[in-house]
This record gives sequence, structure tokens and C-alpha cells, in this order.
Amino acid sequence: MFKNIIEGIEKISKQQSILVPINADNDGYIDKECPVNDCLFSFKVNETDWSNLFKDEAVYCPQCGHAAPSKCWWTREQVEEAKRQALNLIKSQIGNILFEGAREAQNRNRTGFIKLKIQYCGTNSRYIIMPISAQEEMEQKVTCDKCNARFSVVGIAFFCPCCGHNSIEKMFDNSLNKVTNKLNSLQAIQKILLDSGQRDAAAITCQSIVETSLSDCVTAFQYFCDKKYKAPEGEKKVPANSFQRIEFGNTAWKKVLGQGYDNWLGAEEYKELRILFQKRHLLQHSNGIVDVRYLEKSGDTNNNLGQRIVVTVSDVENLATMIKKIVTNIRQLTEKAGNT
Ligand SMILES: [Zn+2]
Ligand SMILES: [Zn+2]
Repeated sequence: MFKNIIEGIEKISKQQSILVPINADNDGYIDKECPVNDCLFSFKVNETDWSNLFKDEAVYCPQCGHAAPSKCWWTREQVEEAKRQALNLIKSQIGNILFEGAREAQNRNRTGFIKLKIQYCGTNSRYIIMPISAQEEMEQKVTCDKCNARFSVVGIAFFCPCCGHNSIEKMFDNSLNKVTNKLNSLQAIQKILLDSGQRDAAAITCQSIVETSLSDCVTAFQYFCDKKYKAPEGEKKVPANSFQRIEFGNTAWKKVLGQGYDNWLGAEEYKELRILFQKRHLLQHSNGIVDVRYLEKSGDTNNNLGQRIVVTVSDVENLATMIKKIVTNIRQLTEKAGNT
């Protein structure tokens, strides 16, 4: 009896691996998760592309850009579920060996003078590994413009998980979409806080969302210009943060494209653009309190020294519209320049 049991258990311990299949969702995408603890970004990759395009050496997190071998991207749920199923399978295999062993011993023992009752109290059942089901489909489907890998995300993706390509075009569009979403959710957030009697929190939170949205627009624009701008031959590389300054950017683009912000925007718009960029500078560096530098640089005549500036939803919407207009012109002109 024991010989068979020992042999059976040895066989189980020698089994190389237990395969737990993972199902794709209805759109054919499988779940992945960034292994970096501070990130843990959830995304999906197209199942066919995962087999055909992705490389074993490196997969990239769409949100933080972390690179790790392809075997590191299981989601925590997949790992837990696979562990649970593997453990159940081993338990049932051991159970079956003990059951068989007990039955065999019982049969052998029937004819003796002393009857020994050997019984295994577990169950004799075969555990069947079930595929791990997929999470709900994600709406935002992205195709990398460099390697054509298809993936899907919720929220913002900066990097292609297959080749790590960081599209500045997509990054800018995504950042402005984020601003639109933030502004669109403003009323709902305000209502929740007001309904729960938190009037101060409602005012502070909404103000903060609007102000950070203004900063988001400037950061997205600055990043786009920094990456897109190629200084003319013989000129020094543009120092970091230069495109936070409207006059600098206007002159720089005129040098390489022959046109600048004041060609693409109306006179009033250009004036407003300068004010809004300076407002963002104030929020960043002096908590929004008007200083002499702001008054000189912005040309704002509505605010006095020592006042705190006010940023409205329409300020952010106007800024988003203006920088989109500028970026569209830069895209078109750099494409033309690239094609000639
Ligand atoms: Zn990540
Ligand atoms: Zn790619």
C-alpha cells in the first residue's frame, strides 16, 4: 500500500508545471498589469499580437514606461487564481492516491484472521483546471503607430507596451482629453460633496481641479513643444522649460517654421494666452498671489498687486482651444517641412 502511495506522491512532486489557461475578453484582449508596486497599471493586449509581436525580453508599461520580461506581467488576480487552482489540483491528485491506496489495502486484507479497516476520509475526485476569465473590455483601443501592436487602456497611456514607443502626439491628445474629463466631472464631484454637507470641501476641491487643469494644459503644451522643436543647425539646444515662456516659443517657432503663435491666434487670443500662461506661473511659484513680475509679463489689467488670481472653467477651456490650435499648426507645418 505504502509503496504505491510513495510512488504516486513522488510522481506529483516531479510534475514540471501546471498549465492554467487565461481567457481573452470578447474583443480578443488579455489582461496585463505593471509589476511596479507604485504603478500596478492595468491594461490589455491583443492576444494575437501578444504571441506574434511582443518580445520575451521586454514589455513596457503603458503608463510608467517600466520595462520587464514578458513573464512579469500577470495580474495579481491571475496569479492568485492560478495558485488556487494549482493547489486544488495537487490536493485532488494526492487525495486520489490515498483513496486508491486505502482501497487496495482494504481488498488485500479481507481474508485474514484479524480484519483491519483502512479508510481514507477525503474524496476521490478529479479536479479540472478552468481557464481564468478576463476582466471587462476596455473602451480605449490603441494601435501603436510604430509597431502596430494593439492594446487597450482605461485612462491615459503614454508608452506602447510592445515597443516602448512614446508618441508625443498621442501624449498631447491624451493630456487634453484628461483635462476635458476633469472639467466634465466637476459638477458631479461638487454635487456629491454638497449632498454630504461638505460645502468647504466642495469649493476647495472644485477650485483645485480647475487650477490643476490649467497647469495640465501648460505642461502638455510645453512637453509637446520641447520634443517637437528641432533647433536650426548651428544653434544651441533649447534649454528645459523654455516653452513655458510664450515670447520665447513664438520666436523659436518663427525661426524654424516661418510662423508663430501670433500668426495662428487672433490678437485678443494671443493676449489671453500670455495672461493664462502667467497665471499658471503664479499658481506654481507664488500660490496665485499677483506680483510685479506677473503684472509686467502678462499685461493683465484686471488684477492688482497682492490679489489672488481667479481661474475659471472657461479660462481652462479657452487655453485648451488655443494650444490645440497652435499644436495643429505646428503638426501641419512640421509635416510639410518633413515632406519637402
Ligand atoms: Zn507601470
Ligand atoms: Zn509599439
